[in-house]
Amino acid sequence: MAAGQCLCGAIRYRVHAPLRDAVICHCVDCRRWHGSSPAMVAAPRESVEIIGDEPAWYTEDDKPRRGFCGRCGSSLFWDAPERPSLTIAAGTLDTPTGLRTEARIFTAHAGDYELIPDDGLPQHPYQAPPDIVATP
Ligand SMILES: [Zn+2]
Ligand SMILES: [Zn+2]
Repeated sequence: MAAGQCLCGAIRYRVHAPLRDAVICHCVDCRRWHGSSPAMVAAPRESVEIIGDEPAWYTEDDKPRRGFCGRCGSSLFWDAPERPSLTIAAGTLDTPTGLRTEARIFTAHAGDYELIPDDGLPQHPYQAPPDIVATP
């Protein structure tokens, strides 16, 4: 079972379902929120059990809400209400995860300082195609 936590440990979570592999998002919102382009995994929303503090949520306009720790500020979750899945920052997972990275998205929005390696991963200039959004 996958599990993870914020930096200070006030929020821990367990995931009672298989996680989708990691997708690296280079969009400007994710870059600003995480401080760099994050690797994100996903699981059915109801499979994610929060232990400890409830996350604080940041919402802007009609964008998906972003969950973070109100004590240490760790960025944890991305939650679009129209999706059945909760997206989780892979960097907060306990390792080993047994996961791999499956694609990069929003590469057209990558910071000009970013080195995007030619590592054979699919690169999508804008949003992810539906098969990547889906959870297993
Ligand atoms: Zn914390
Ligand atoms: Zn993004």
